[in-house]
Amino acid sequence: MQTTLVIIKPSGIQKGIAGRIISRFEEKGLIIAGMKMMELNENILREHYAHLVDRPFFPSLLRSMMATPVVVLAVKGVDAVAVVRAMTGATNARNAAPGTIRGDFGMSGQENIIHASDSPENAAIEVARFFKAGEVFDYTPCTLPAFYAPDELNS
Ligand code: UDP
Ligand code: MG
Repeated sequence: MQTTLVIIKPSGIQKGIAGRIISRFEEKGLIIAGMKMMELNENILREHYAHLVDRPFFPSLLRSMMATPVVVLAVKGVDAVAVVRAMTGATNARNAAPGTIRGDFGMSGQENIIHASDSPENAAIEVARFFKAGEVFDYTPCTLPAFYAPDELNS
């Protein structure tokens, strides 16, 4: 199984839809392996969005991500990185397909509700960036056989 990082951004917190977003992952059969509320600062955001620090919108992105506390989730499942990215939708929420989180809850390219890791390599780095040792839990929900065939669980 993979574990991927989701951040419910201030745009999701402000709209009061954190619970609905978490429910989507639960209903899909993904395991919530870690979850906490935290305030982000410029240091962690410069690291997390290192690929964007030179873009003109970066100061606005910083302000946006520090507007309220966020909820960070470590979300686990077979192929969880790709599954969660697909549930997230396109970066610009106006272009995101209906049925995706961004497609259903947003209208903005910046205020786009959640972050989701984009590769297994980045997922490992990002989970370690936002969660300390002991904050991500290893447990087996009793519902697992309803979500997977036995051979799928070995992958
Ligand atoms: N972003 C923005 N303007 C842009 C592109 C990105 O404000 O033109 C913000 C947006 O909030 C996005 C985040 O920067 O989610 C990270 O950008 P990335 O290209 O990594 O998109 P993502 O992986 O979040 O879909
Ligand atoms: Mg990205």
